[in-house]
Amino acid sequence: MSSYQCDSCGYTFNEVDGDPREGFPSGTDWDDVPDDWACPDCGVREKIDFVVLDEAG
Ligand SMILES: [Zn+2]
Repeated sequence: MSSYQCDSCGYTFNEVDGDPREGFPSGTDWDDVPDDWACPDCGVREKIDFVVLDEAG
C-alpha cells in the first residue's frame, strides 16, 4: 500500500484509508482511481500529477 501526494497543495491519498468523501473506500487501489480524477483540495492537479510517497519500510 502506498500514498500519493498532490504536488500543488500537499493533499495525500493513502490506499489504506482511501478517501470516503471522494467515494473511495478504505483499501482502494491507486489503479482504481480514475485517471481524470482531480485533487479534491485544490482541484488543479489530476491523478497523473500526484507523486508517490516513499513510505518507511
Ligand atoms: Zn491538490
